[in-house]
Amino acid sequence: MKITIIGTGYVGLVTGACLAELGNDVLCLDLDANKVAILNNGGIPIHEPGLDVIVAANRANGRLKFTTDVAASVAHGDIQFIAVGTPPDEDGSADLQYVLAAAKNIGKYMQGFKVVIDKSTVPVGTAEKVSKVIAAELSQRNAKECSFSVVSNPEFLKEGAAVEDFMRPDRIVIGSDNDAVGLHAKALVKQLYTPFNRNRERTYWMDVRSAEFTKYAANAMLATRISFMNELANLADCVGVDIEAVRHGIGSDPRIGHSFLYAGCGYGGSCFPKDVQALERTAREYDQDLLILRAVESVNDNQKQVLGKKIIARFGENLAGHHFALWGLAFKPNTDDMRAASSRVLLRELLSRGATISVHDPVAMDEARRVLALDFADQPEQLARITYVSNPMDATNKADALLIVTEWKAYRSPDFSQLKSQLKNPIIFDGRNLFDPQDMTDLGIEYHGIGRSVLT
Ligand code: NAD
Repeated sequence: MKITIIGTGYVGLVTGACLAELGNDVLCLDLDANKVAILNNGGIPIHEPGLDVIVAANRANGRLKFTTDVAASVAHGDIQFIAVGTPPDEDGSADLQYVLAAAKNIGKYMQGFKVVIDKSTVPVGTAEKVSKVIAAELSQRNAKECSFSVVSNPEFLKEGAAVEDFMRPDRIVIGSDNDAVGLHAKALVKQLYTPFNRNRERTYWMDVRSAEFTKYAANAMLATRISFMNELANLADCVGVDIEAVRHGIGSDPRIGHSFLYAGCGYGGSCFPKDVQALERTAREYDQDLLILRAVESVNDNQKQVLGKKIIARFGENLAGHHFALWGLAFKPNTDDMRAASSRVLLRELLSRGATISVHDPVAMDEARRVLALDFADQPEQLARITYVSNPMDATNKADALLIVTEWKAYRSPDFSQLKSQLKNPIIFDGRNLFDPQDMTDLGIEYHGIGRSVLT
């Protein structure tokens, strides 16, 4: 099938590459000429395991192309995926300017019939807005021969496992209309997703608004589980309980399950924070107050400060003259994404108190340099106190403590004797509970996890 992907970011590039891998003829559009140039030169602008291989293979066989030419991209696909960003607006609602700009372009250039698929995460009612924008453009052109249907197909992939998630999804949610064009669109979308349903039916068909809502409900539920455990972890620290033991103890109940129960130094990324906010904002428009989600958000804001508070409690308010090693900058492992990363909050806290910090991340160093230069644009003196090192052990040299913010596999089994000999003080502040407190005590390491202050 002929597919156009509008927006070649994490979601758009993975969607385009995976659909090309399945035999479709895919053209990806992005307005960022630099991104398109990187892709056309055989590079990949983001880090995503396995993506480079399928992008290269499908560029080589001619099924995956990249362009900045809007008219050509609209002409190409019978199916037009909108996969542009939906960042939070100032009031927390999803900013739809990129989605609606993409819709406008479709209306401006389309001929014949198009299926327009909203893949971006968008609030309930967005498909109707997209329809109105396209219809207005068609009416301005007096293009009576054109028709279209807008389908909602939210994406559930996880950064760091995006290719695997796209190729083997738990579920595919599709919201479509039941009028004649809607049914025609539904048939085409069904055909597109047929290869994913070979072993079992994974598609959940529903109305458009329910599909739009499903994405927010899923992210809100996951964020809730994390904040719930973080809140309990903070209490566990007060009462002398190991939250890891509790996690196993409750996760074994099949009604609860083991996923997303890890206490830590807060969730980040481009999705959970903004989607929780956007859902709250939608609720406010209908005079509803989502009390649970408000708490989820404020617990998470607080949790991003927990490591900083523990460090201050140990070393004092003034950290001038103190040097720390920080392992992990990305908001989670296997990605270079720094959006809303907990490391940024911790860096701000420690640098504002005078500390110097050596930082390491296996893949997010370039992105960190870019993002932190913006974060500290007004405090160049603080920015200058960050040193980037290419080997995690080098960061620990003469450091007062090791701080762990991202649970990369490479950090799970360090050489503890080397670590102890390099650190000025054998102290670890572990924001992801990678190590066992008793093991650390046995090794002579002072260990501060999240919710792991067992009384002995
Ligand atoms: P992104 O910022 O990585 O990519 C968006 C891309 O769209 C950018 O490259 C931008 O230049 C391009 N763009 C903007 N306006 C455009 C236009 N009019 N025409 C062509 N290109 C345009 O965003 P992302 O992380 O891929 O997220 C995209 C959407 O998918 C968001 O709504 C997000 O919430 C949702 N989503 C993201 C993830 C994730 O893990 N990143 C997972 C599921 C859903």
